[in-house]
Amino acid sequence: MELHNLTITKIQNGLRNKDFSVVELITAFLDRIKQEDEKISAFLSVEENSAISQAKKIDELISCGGELTALAGIPLAVKDNILVKGMKATCASKILENYVAPYDATCVKKLKSAGAVILGKTNLDEFAMGGSTENSGFFTTKNPNDLGRVPGGSSGGSAAAVAADMCCFALGSDTGGSIRQPASFCGVVGLKPTYGSVSRYGLVAFASSLDQIGPITKTAEDAKLVFDVISGKDPLDSTSIKSIIHNSKFLIQNLRVGVPKEYFIGGMDKEVEKIIRDAIKRIEDCGAKIEEISLPNTKYALAVYYLIATSEASANLARYDGIRYGGIMNYESRIMTDEGGDLLEHYLTTRGTGFGDEVKRRIMLGTFALSAGYYNAYYLKAQKVRTLIKNDFEKAFQKVNAIFTPASPTPAFKIGENMSNPLSMYLADIFTVSANLTGLPAISIPIGFTQKKLPIGLQIIGKPFEETKILEIGKIYGS
Ligand code: GLN
Repeated sequence: MELHNLTITKIQNGLRNKDFSVVELITAFLDRIKQEDEKISAFLSVEENSAISQAKKIDELISCGGELTALAGIPLAVKDNILVKGMKATCASKILENYVAPYDATCVKKLKSAGAVILGKTNLDEFAMGGSTENSGFFTTKNPNDLGRVPGGSSGGSAAAVAADMCCFALGSDTGGSIRQPASFCGVVGLKPTYGSVSRYGLVAFASSLDQIGPITKTAEDAKLVFDVISGKDPLDSTSIKSIIHNSKFLIQNLRVGVPKEYFIGGMDKEVEKIIRDAIKRIEDCGAKIEEISLPNTKYALAVYYLIATSEASANLARYDGIRYGGIMNYESRIMTDEGGDLLEHYLTTRGTGFGDEVKRRIMLGTFALSAGYYNAYYLKAQKVRTLIKNDFEKAFQKVNAIFTPASPTPAFKIGENMSNPLSMYLADIFTVSANLTGLPAISIPIGFTQKKLPIGLQIIGKPFEETKILEIGKIYGS
């Protein structure tokens, strides 16, 4: 049996039947990383020793007849903007190259108590800003389906690691699509929970009113298992709320699927459109009702997102001076010894060299949008239009129980293809940003392949806190 391609549920059965030990399981995954990651480059760091010692502890517990905890022995990878105590958390930025997390993010703490074993930290676009991992300060991750293409982003390392069987599941973060778009590009399942479902404590903030942590898995069933562990109220994140248990069971005959006309636009890849339309037809054939709906303010979503996300980012990123954790030079000692050196000069140098181009572009854009004289015209206006977008969805959800859209207008693009024009990279986020602006839960599930064998993801958006329901709907597609 190949251990590295098992799902969470299959591993749980295997451990229960004593088909293999946790040490054997974790060793199989670490071997797989050694074999595959040289060509894929999904990991920024691999923590072999801690993974093996954790595995041994769980094996001991099992041999003493202890109850298996929810995710006992399940190997995962964690996006490098989520803190794991004692491991680096670089956010793929040179400015944090030497930063080691002093505590666990709440979701990591919960996963550890559930028995999950962390294999390492995965690559991303610097500070989660991007959609391809090409903005990583270190290297670009390759798409396991085609090594000449991007895995998507910003959680590209996490999605590629799951797709290449280098971990059983991974954690990602999603501010404007960073879980769903890479899941779609790599052919795996990605869940962005409702804003507030999962604590953001220990997630390095990009845009605090949009950021959510969520799982990237091989199946919808696995996503539910991970979500159940990481969700819930956390006193350390005042925006988190107590899990709301909805009845996720439904009769397919009672399912009303909304298909927004604004999401099937000119410029969209024809093959993507056909695959998504076929998927919608499939659920209709099963008995669901399909309704065309309108979300008229969709046309403003990208502009609103790129104003709000950059504004919040410019405030969140003001804390990095690049002095203590930056890998470029040891500025701390220089300042100590400098004779009256200019501190501002140092900051300009450390921030100037520590941040990459895309991060600097966003800090400048966000600072401009927040500045006196422009605040009302840009930031405030964007917030008002955000409410209009939210109202569109509320209206639509009076008629339908779920909304189906493509996760991305194209399949995975070639490495370098969108790098010369930041705007073309931003346009790729057109279908994902609204779920962040409105806080709604959304998943991407793999539903087919293009002729070039590139995976395509269907996005299912649900009502607030109906994560389980959209995952149940996803299961209809066999994932
Ligand atoms: N691609 C989007 C951006 O560049 C989304 C990023 C994210 O969700 N972290 O902002």
